[in-house]
Amino acid sequence: MKEEEISINEAGWLRAKITLLEFPKNCCKCSQATEFTREYYGGMKFWWLFRLIGIEWYVEIPIPTCENCNHAIKKAKKKGTLIGLLIGAIIGIAGFIGGVAISVLQRNSLPDGAADIGIIIGGTTFVLGLIGGPLIGYFWAEARNVTVKINKYSPLSKAVSIKFDDAEYAKKVFERTKQ
Ligand SMILES: [Zn+2]
Repeated sequence: MKEEEISINEAGWLRAKITLLEFPKNCCKCSQATEFTREYYGGMKFWWLFRLIGIEWYVEIPIPTCENCNHAIKKAKKKGTLIGLLIGAIIGIAGFIGGVAISVLQRNSLPDGAADIGIIIGGTTFVLGLIGGPLIGYFWAEARNVTVKINKYSPLSKAVSIKFDDAEYAKKVFERTKQ
């Protein structure tokens, strides 16, 4: 493969066509020899938003990740989702109690319809807290545990930029792919 088809910059970002990438059979997180892989997702900015409306401007790349690191990443995501769920539930329940309290306490001084607005606000906060909390928690856990960043995907040229936590790993991928 030609050298210009893969590049690596000073910040450690590798850029190459996805199909040409070759990874060493070592874990990209701890370098241990492994046959296990993990799918890493990425694309362009807000790719996950586009995914919601069916536009697939993202890629999933299987990259060697040992059993232990796979497990650790999964665990961190689960923990983030749970923490998010808990915080979301607390915010949701507090909003609900607050909304209902306003409605009940101010019922006499507010016009009929206005009192119900409190209940609507309370109910909305409750639902948003329960849905938003775990989602935010999941993405937060994902962002905290970045082993592999995938970026600047070009659907036309199928080129993608990848950065690893371990800079040495990026060099190994570069050497292997270049050959
Ligand atoms: Zn590992």
